[in-house]
Amino acid sequence: MNKIENLLEKCKEYAFDLDFNRAKQWKSEDDSRVLVGYMPIYFPREILHAVGAMGVGVFGGGDRKQIIKGDAYYQSYICHIPRSIIELALDKHMDHLDGFIFPSICDVIRNLSGIFKQLKIGRFVKYMDFPQNFLPEVGGKFYQDEMKHVLKYIKELNGVELTTENLNHSIELYNKNRRLIEHIYNVRQEFPWRLSIEDVYHVVRAGTVIPVEEHNEILEELCAIIDEDIGTPMDKIKVVVSGAFCEQPSIGLIKAIEEAGCYVVDDDYVLGSRMILTDIDSKSDNPLEAISNAYIYHSQYSSSIYDVHNPKEYRLAKIAKQRSADGVIFASASFCDPSLLDAPIFQNAFDKLGIRYIAFQYSENINQYKVIKEQVGTFSDSIKLWED
Ligand code: SF4
Repeated sequence: MNKIENLLEKCKEYAFDLDFNRAKQWKSEDDSRVLVGYMPIYFPREILHAVGAMGVGVFGGGDRKQIIKGDAYYQSYICHIPRSIIELALDKHMDHLDGFIFPSICDVIRNLSGIFKQLKIGRFVKYMDFPQNFLPEVGGKFYQDEMKHVLKYIKELNGVELTTENLNHSIELYNKNRRLIEHIYNVRQEFPWRLSIEDVYHVVRAGTVIPVEEHNEILEELCAIIDEDIGTPMDKIKVVVSGAFCEQPSIGLIKAIEEAGCYVVDDDYVLGSRMILTDIDSKSDNPLEAISNAYIYHSQYSSSIYDVHNPKEYRLAKIAKQRSADGVIFASASFCDPSLLDAPIFQNAFDKLGIRYIAFQYSENINQYKVIKEQVGTFSDSIKLWED
């Protein structure tokens, strides 16, 4: 195996390790270390890092975990991810995680946090509201209080007090992480054949379950490789995938979109790792405020956020334009209200803006996507063959 194959293989293993073994190993090296599972979409992992804890992204079991018990907790007309998260918990895949954060994204995740509480899974369970008010003195202040609440839980477990110096250092590490991930997307915008979207997915998702220092090393090595002229271009259109921010499509489906004739030049698959769009101020006397300001002023749009003054349809249109995409694919998890309710808003705007799109639904455990592949292939051909 050459260097890039080695790196990618390692990331693939981390990304789909349903037992979170790397995190478990990290915790075992020091008695004071704490592991905190967080559900999609976003959580400011910097604050955990600064107090000797590590955030562990919990994205469900995908197509690698058969659901038996999880179905008993939810009615049939609900998305799949909460069932597989419960299944993982009941089958003890997450026993070494000390606590759980459920970021406010939708009612399903809120209810999931309640089930975790009822079943007494973890030493703490917090449903974390993110501000829907984007005034720093209102939403920003509220967000800082929410972060302090999380820190209180960690202190109860390991006794570690937050310091400005430590948090600024953690912010620097995550700034670097975001910059390196963005570098990969920027290279792929021009040369998408250098790294497949399947590989990008493994690399970014791996970063949610391993220490940030280790992920940064992997990213640096990978960026150096893809800065070179590698791979062979193919005749494919460029697309942006939007709507798959919570329940993740199976890797087979992620791969199928590119196999059907599309280079995916942007997506919202592991949105949390790319949620903050700029560096966070790492020299502030009040780093919690710096994190909050970054969220208020520089966070990515999402269907879980109601930001009336910053319409998301135009933000997605801007991404498609900046990435020189030929079209947009709306991929929504079945029964995902936030994504499906937004879809017509996006589509109405795109009709007016002349942006081409298709839409389909998926479920994390569905491995039959022949119809989707044909749909994507037809979309790609129609753009290639009948472009103005
Ligand atoms: S997939 Fe959609 S509906 Fe389901 S938990 Fe996630 S955001 Fe909520």
